[in-house]
Amino acid sequence: MNHFAAIRDKLGAYGVDAMLLTNEANRFYASGFHSAGTDGVALVTRDQAYYWTDSRYIEAARQQVQDAEVGLATVGRGYAALINEAVARHGLKTVGFEDEYMTVSEHKLYQDKLNAELKGATRLMTALRMVKDDAEIEALIGAQRIAERALSEIYHDMKAGVTEKEIAAKLTYLMLRYGAENMSFDPIVASGANGSKPHAVPSDKPIAAGEFVTMDFGCIYHGYCSDMTRTVAIGYVTEEMDKVYHTVLAAQSAGIAAAKAGVSGCDVHNAAAKVIADAGYGEYFGHGFGHGVGVEIHESPRASATYKEPLPAGAVISAEPGIYIPGRFGVRIEDVIIIKEGGCENIHRAPKELLVLP
Ligand code: ZN
Ligand code: ZN
Repeated sequence: MNHFAAIRDKLGAYGVDAMLLTNEANRFYASGFHSAGTDGVALVTRDQAYYWTDSRYIEAARQQVQDAEVGLATVGRGYAALINEAVARHGLKTVGFEDEYMTVSEHKLYQDKLNAELKGATRLMTALRMVKDDAEIEALIGAQRIAERALSEIYHDMKAGVTEKEIAAKLTYLMLRYGAENMSFDPIVASGANGSKPHAVPSDKPIAAGEFVTMDFGCIYHGYCSDMTRTVAIGYVTEEMDKVYHTVLAAQSAGIAAAKAGVSGCDVHNAAAKVIADAGYGEYFGHGFGHGVGVEIHESPRASATYKEPLPAGAVISAEPGIYIPGRFGVRIEDVIIIKEGGCENIHRAPKELLVLP
């Protein structure tokens, strides 16, 4: 899978003769090839795409990158020299660059050395990546199925006395075992009072009866991320825990019901936030309803209080409201949905009824 042609089609609309890609996620999106960190540069011109990398990655790049000329960057002929050769070959005047990613020093280096004008064009990539094609959706669903398989197995290990870290380690192992390339982020496992911190780090604390355990985790498959959260109870729940759980579930349903192409991200967020506020927990839901998921675990668009733009058909976002009561407990439930005309499709299959493990 590569997106050189899709990028090429947008060059004119953004007023650039070529797009220079140094950001790791954008390079992967363009080429379908992973080389870590800053070790690679892609350039997409109107009639030719290039992928340059160093000796550590060149053999793999030559095997995997299709529809582009693959070249080796060396000490004497570095990225700037290679780009300048393409600038001369194709008569490039304006080269788009990732103004929302490139470091100041990198920008200065390219500005000093390139024989073309640099123009900020991150949005060309953001707008393209926001709308997923069929191959991307297939990878996203593949990543989700692996996470769900790990979840259904982890329940057997979740008993009073097992630590948060042990659960996080087992989830990681299971996802790798079932085909994940990597984790999409470090798994969050938070029990009892730790659950009131939305991004708690798994600790040596053992889980105990009468506690909620929130697990937020995902993996990467064919370069695309999955993201899911389930909150389950150990032993028993109090009436209040039951109420909070079902409020979060109702809020998630309300947000999902509001999500369709053309609706703004903030309207989706507000539909969910209203359910939580109406139940009296408004002050305990501080983050956004959802974020885009794709090559990166957090990308555009957003379904948050400040995101006023409409969600496009083909966008893939999380649906993850939560209630976090400091010092006591928290609940979050997270699925991932595909925005469509007139509605959305939930790619998750894992049950969400309140589960009380023995
Ligand atoms: Zn998550
Ligand atoms: Zn998420």
